[in-house]
Amino acid sequence: MRYQSDAPKRRFLAGVSCPKCQEMDTVVQVNIVIPTPDEYIECNQCGHREHRPDPDTISAKNHAEDQLIRDALMTETATGTSGTVKFKP
Ligand SMILES: [Zn+2]
Repeated sequence: MRYQSDAPKRRFLAGVSCPKCQEMDTVVQVNIVIPTPDEYIECNQCGHREHRPDPDTISAKNHAEDQLIRDALMTETATGTSGTVKFKP
């Protein structure tokens, strides 16, 4: 029996276009085992990397929360620099 390697596995995805540069047949699926098991797609054309949609949607949920935090920060910044807040003695 052959022991499974920890080296990243790259598998060419035929007929898949890159979500960023729209190039066809440039996307490979990459599976890594170390440091943590992960799977993503990578474009050989522009170097774009993206996690594939996961049924568990854990990463999507985290991304949504990040977006909410980012929106909140942007709103706060916009209010702070709008000049409409006045402190008068
Ligand atoms: Zn690309």
